[in-house]
Amino acid sequence: MFQSFVAESSPDQGPARLARLRQVMTAGGLDCWLVPRADMHQGEYVAPCDARLAWLSGFTGSAGFCAVLAQVAGVFIDGRYRVQVKEQVAEVFTPVHWPEIKLGDWLIEQLPAGGVVGYDPWLHTIDEIGTLTTQLAGKGFTLRPTANLIDPLWTDRPAPPSAPFVAYPLENAGESHEDKCARLGADLAKAGHKAAIITLPDSVAWLLNIRGHDIEKNPVPQSFAILHDDGRVDLFARPGKTDAIAAHLGAQVRCLPDTGFAAAIAGLTGSVRVDPKSAPQAVADLAQAAGVEIAKAGDPCILPKARKNSTEIAGMREAHLRDGAAVVRFLAWLDAGAPKGGLTEIDVVTALEGFRRETNALLDISFDTICGTGPHGAIMHYRVTEGSNRGLAPGDLVVVDSGGQYLDGTTDITRTIIVGTPDAEQRACYTRVLQGMIAISRVRFPKGVAGCHLDALARYPLWLAGQDFDHGTGHGVGVYLCVHEGPQRLSRLSDVALEAGMILSNEPGYYREGAFGIRIENLIVTIAAPSLPGADARAMLAFENLTWVPLDRRLIDTGLLSQGERDWIDRYHADTLRHIGPRVDGAALDWLKAACAPL
Ligand code: ZN
Ligand code: ZN
Repeated sequence: MFQSFVAESSPDQGPARLARLRQVMTAGGLDCWLVPRADMHQGEYVAPCDARLAWLSGFTGSAGFCAVLAQVAGVFIDGRYRVQVKEQVAEVFTPVHWPEIKLGDWLIEQLPAGGVVGYDPWLHTIDEIGTLTTQLAGKGFTLRPTANLIDPLWTDRPAPPSAPFVAYPLENAGESHEDKCARLGADLAKAGHKAAIITLPDSVAWLLNIRGHDIEKNPVPQSFAILHDDGRVDLFARPGKTDAIAAHLGAQVRCLPDTGFAAAIAGLTGSVRVDPKSAPQAVADLAQAAGVEIAKAGDPCILPKARKNSTEIAGMREAHLRDGAAVVRFLAWLDAGAPKGGLTEIDVVTALEGFRRETNALLDISFDTICGTGPHGAIMHYRVTEGSNRGLAPGDLVVVDSGGQYLDGTTDITRTIIVGTPDAEQRACYTRVLQGMIAISRVRFPKGVAGCHLDALARYPLWLAGQDFDHGTGHGVGVYLCVHEGPQRLSRLSDVALEAGMILSNEPGYYREGAFGIRIENLIVTIAAPSLPGADARAMLAFENLTWVPLDRRLIDTGLLSQGERDWIDRYHADTLRHIGPRVDGAALDWLKAACAPL
């Protein structure tokens, strides 16, 4: 099993570790020390050796940080983790609602006069430290970079991941790394930059057509790179990781030990592009100390990586057909078993991973499956453990959000199903969520439109009923890379214009705390809109669907649908049967035919 059901931390561990950290802070003349969740690469997941926030506090969420002072230790968490943090941390930690409460404002209240705030400059971005510096300016406090204070205390700290990097085949990548490096190097030269420092592992993975096994669920190679304006690349990784890919990388890429990264920064000349949103403050400090001129701009790989080429899109289509067949077999199994009783959330997650494994192509799951039945469905980032495991009961809505990592693509799909017979309210809410999902699926929009313009379409049916959901409508997705990938999103916060080739999730939901949750999620790819009779001569974009798995027709209230929505559902189901039918047989095929019948 890729997924584990063991609770990863306990509140017991925190108090003694916090006391030891405070002793070290006092000895070092620090009034506060910051412990972020992030590692040097700012990814969503961290390796066990970098899980410092979890080691200290017990909190295992994917975002947040702890500000430790002599009298108080604030654990800053966003809306997703308000429930989880209470279960995971001891009373010596104080949950702080972030970003509503800013770190700087909180520190101004808590710090003694003239207080000194220490931090590890490799674990905070340039923007984070810049913002904190601005917030604390003129208050008499000092920000001080220090060595990491946790690492010496963490006596049984796991070893860093050591698995070697692997080459990502050209038949999956669609463009050689030589061409990508030459293309991006020329862009740097045109902008007057001599080099770009790249600290995001999924950028390195895309640029050099390599993958790694350093982080669960995300096949990224933990490394740094410097791209020069002539297309040469210096790749910095732990010794041994790059030996097997030296031939793939060729003479244009120099493989160097990660310990040489700092000296390499100091040796750069001319204008050097650095992304302040992701690069560690240490990079800026090293450059400044050496007199290297930093040009703050986005990581040059992010947009080219987001515009998937035709080979990557073809791979994603195939991965979704393979994954769709596994999910259809799972749903047929679930529909047969759930009404009989006795199934739990863990049974469901285990069975789903089993069906995906039977494809013989599953390399990992793309995130821990979220399976929430009844009230658990209302917890958006619920991860079942042996302690929380709940049985599926008649009348429960079950939210199952899951995905797979395959060599040709990454999947992410949510289906909500009913155990037995739904009531009218469950059907009405489900249908409104589905109408929002259909609206995004059908939309045509002019070039230049961003996620912030489209997000409301997914909410409109809910808004009319006085309802809403508290997450974005969709996120970008990588190709055998991170399931959450920027920069494009369907969110009122995203002003990145959508472009052909960008892949997104389309996942509206509705959550009634203590009662039920609903989410429906397909992946979509942005395409040039097909021609339309009578349309103006204007460049328009649209979405092509990637995910082919039936929607639970028992939950659809056809009386709420327009004719266009009805037609869309019937066409979606006919296409699903056509795509997936040849890939399943027996009881699963019988189930699929019934599930895909016209409304
Ligand atoms: Zn999902
Ligand atoms: Zn998603």
